[in-house]
Amino acid sequence: MKDSRHGNGLGAERSESIRAIAAFSGGLDSILAGTLAHRAGIDIILLHVKHLWSGGKEAEERLRAAAARVGLPLRIVDATVEHLDVVRHPRHGYGVGVNPCVDCHIFMLKIAKRVMEEEGAHFVVTGEVLGQRPKSQHYKALLEVAEESGLGSRLVRPLSANLLPDTLPVERGWLRRENLLSIQGRGRDAQLTLAEHLGIRDFPQPAGGCLLTEKVYAARVRDAFAHVGKANVGVEEFELLGVGRHFRLSEDVKVVVGRDEGENATLARLAADRVRIDPVDIMGPTVLVEGAPSDDDLALAGALGARYGDHAGRHSIRLKVLRSGAEKTIDVVPLDPADPRIAAWRLGG
Ligand code: SF4
Repeated sequence: MKDSRHGNGLGAERSESIRAIAAFSGGLDSILAGTLAHRAGIDIILLHVKHLWSGGKEAEERLRAAAARVGLPLRIVDATVEHLDVVRHPRHGYGVGVNPCVDCHIFMLKIAKRVMEEEGAHFVVTGEVLGQRPKSQHYKALLEVAEESGLGSRLVRPLSANLLPDTLPVERGWLRRENLLSIQGRGRDAQLTLAEHLGIRDFPQPAGGCLLTEKVYAARVRDAFAHVGKANVGVEEFELLGVGRHFRLSEDVKVVVGRDEGENATLARLAADRVRIDPVDIMGPTVLVEGAPSDDDLALAGALGARYGDHAGRHSIRLKVLRSGAEKTIDVVPLDPADPRIAAWRLGG
């Protein structure tokens, strides 16, 4: 019996097995691109590059399930630490937030190239669509990304390939132009129609988006870069910047206030060498203070945190302050919620 993936009328007739790595974010476009190439007779290995903003364990489970549904093998590469340097020092700059999308794509594709070589694959496929993102997926950016990743013409974007220069797989006859598409722009209709056509019905809905693109998070990251230096913002610091309310009280003092029990637990886990303040006899937030706070700063940070505690009818609140392993208690008066300093201190509004 003939192998249905080779010489099936979709791809070119050949005896050699052609393999490709398909970059897999878990989104519909990457599923479509990998599936299109697979239906054209290419052996596909899906590749997901994990980083701090790629969604954690739940996202990983969703990816595994999506890969299993389309019946393609999945490799996950954890690039959490290396990816931080892309965010700290993007050569192509940031988008609306601190999202270095062009550099991020190049970084991912350099890893895809490495995996392509390790797996003895011939090329790399992505679900990028021409013009879908104004800053990182316009014509010139797509060509730049192909060049700078080192993939050059071994990078195929099946969804927009017929609007882009020919690639090696087309020149060699591994893929036919008639099996590649000309989708462009931000609309989703063409992808939804294609999903229907390919029988892909159960696909993940777009996630909330990358935290690096968010205004509030970006303001906190910029503040951290300016005050502690880019090199000192590591995995835990970036994680902490996404938790709680953040306030800069002065050049030397920053305060983070938990918003619920889950965040209080995260702040406790990330306390490290920061000062930690917890209420003694009311329900209220855990507070972290970083920098070089004086005793007055700690009292102010405690009063700020207590403003968000459950202190109905009480004037003075007792707090436990843990600093460098030493514990003491202080009494503070919660700040008035209308105190204008609160809004002025708040990072990112
Ligand atoms: S949105 Fe975030 S994860 Fe996606 S390319 Fe941009 S920086 Fe990278």
